[in-house]
Amino acid sequence: MIDLHCHSTSSDGTDDPVVLARLAVEAGLSAFALTDHDILEGIQSAREAANEVGVRLVVGCELSCEVAQGTMHLLVYFLDDRANDPLQERLVALREGRAQRNDRIVERLIDLGLDITLDEVLAEAGSGSVGRPHFASVLCRKGHATSIKDAFDRWLAKGRPGYVERERLEPRDAIDLAHASGAVCVLAHPNSLELTGDALDAFISELSRYGLDGIEAEYARYSRKERDVLHDLAARHDLCVTGGSDYHGTYKPGLSLGTGYGDLAVPDEYLDLLEARRPTSTTP
Ligand code: AMP
Ligand code: FE
Ligand code: FE
Ligand code: ZN
Repeated sequence: MIDLHCHSTSSDGTDDPVVLARLAVEAGLSAFALTDHDILEGIQSAREAANEVGVRLVVGCELSCEVAQGTMHLLVYFLDDRANDPLQERLVALREGRAQRNDRIVERLIDLGLDITLDEVLAEAGSGSVGRPHFASVLCRKGHATSIKDAFDRWLAKGRPGYVERERLEPRDAIDLAHASGAVCVLAHPNSLELTGDALDAFISELSRYGLDGIEAEYARYSRKERDVLHDLAARHDLCVTGGSDYHGTYKPGLSLGTGYGDLAVPDEYLDLLEARRPTSTTP
């Protein structure tokens, strides 16, 4: 079993990368991918811990893309965190965009009458990439929400009064950057696109023309039926399937690395098939 989607304290997870490696072994995984948002900072310590406890670490990250509606996240795998590749260059600018957004979210929340400061959010986030779950956690602690989910529903989700846009990659650019960096890319939790039927099929077809490598069909939060629809979609478009928990530690209660909500079991074979799609070196 493997898990190709989780977050550490380097972005919006609450477990250190070292803890994730330990949890992976405890869950009986042969491999796990660390996929922090817009950052590879946690990779080095995840790799050391993974080597020590005997589990394979897949180097990854999760990108947000610009779409007309819904949410599009792209998982990128097999990066070289020690390389100076085009994607990692771009991540620096994306993190700067996050920093600018953080200022504006705090302004919004204060205008809404909530008691919160940027320092509190930065302290919650620690080093690495700051995200809305860190705001959510501070809002909970200060009595402005009863749970992370409640904080999103009331203030932080798209369409709610504390929501602020940030710079995102165009889907095509994100896919190109991944490939130019020797990596493969997979559409994360495809249902967050809020498309179904022919509209979803047409969008996947477009991404597939741009070079998308796979879709995350075995996503912990999805029902068996939803996962099956995504498996069909992948087969129709000659895409790999992957799976993961999207584990965030205590920011997503009830969710475990590897087993998700209890019914996740992603086979090792998915990783082999995905790895076979790695771009071959274009050096003449
Ligand atoms: P950001 O990258 O700062 O825009 O934050 C996005 C992250 O917030 C996602 O990866 C999830 O971890 C989390 N998130 C987004 N929407 C929700 C929601 N409705 N409830 C709980 N967590 C959410
Ligand atoms: Fe997240
Ligand atoms: Fe995501
Ligand atoms: Zn994620």
